[in-house]
Amino acid sequence: MATLELKNVNKVFGSGANQVVALDDINFKSVSGELTLILGPSGSGKSTLLTILGGIQTASSGQVLLDEHSLNDLSKTAQEKNRLDKIGFILQRYSLVPFLTVKKQFELVDKVKGHNLSPEVFENLLDELGIQKLLAQYPGELSGGQSQRVAIARALYGDPSIVLADEPTAALDSSRVEVVGQLFQDIAHNYNKAIVTVTHDIRLKKFADHIYELVDGHLQQVK
Ligand code: ADP
Ligand code: MG
Repeated sequence: MATLELKNVNKVFGSGANQVVALDDINFKSVSGELTLILGPSGSGKSTLLTILGGIQTASSGQVLLDEHSLNDLSKTAQEKNRLDKIGFILQRYSLVPFLTVKKQFELVDKVKGHNLSPEVFENLLDELGIQKLLAQYPGELSGGQSQRVAIARALYGDPSIVLADEPTAALDSSRVEVVGQLFQDIAHNYNKAIVTVTHDIRLKKFADHIYELVDGHLQQVK
């Protein structure tokens, strides 16, 4: 059972006339077994919220709780370890390593993390995402949609208890969106993962257990 929680989180960038309140008093909770969608237009604070949830950047004030423990109370090393063990990221710019083939991107996960998907489950995942034929390619040779699917597979390969995804379907056509939406729902429900997806893609709504809307840094639960 994993939980990830934000309590009264604020994030302010800059100061004076340049000050931007990216997140305004956010309260949010994600638990195992559920797919949560946070919908919002560009600039509404989605990436800021997701990266604070995952401990990639820190809040200006408020608390981030991973399995009931405050991230702020942990040392940097402990935070890194927690993140690596528990959280899989699918970031907006795919973050694939440019000089490694697709196959090697997965082998890199093997090097840094002991517990990964079994070969059978992994084969299925590659199959479902349609990336088996891409294993020998370099990221530069992939289309946006292909890169996105590789990034999804790489995040899931580490078998994290929490998956955080930033616009994971932005580059995908509608049939691929269905596949990814269903895959996320299946993984949340059948493998008891907490999945949080921030997006403006309303095609994902039907797969979500909970839906929030983020507008100008204000979060509201709508489902
Ligand atoms: P979204 O992902 O929904 O497009 P972001 O979280 O990227 O939104 O940004 C929310 C707001 O915070 C925007 O106004 C953006 O310009 C601002 N912002 C994000 N990151 C920074 C930063 N590092 N420095 C200054 N402003 C930022
Ligand atoms: Mg963003």
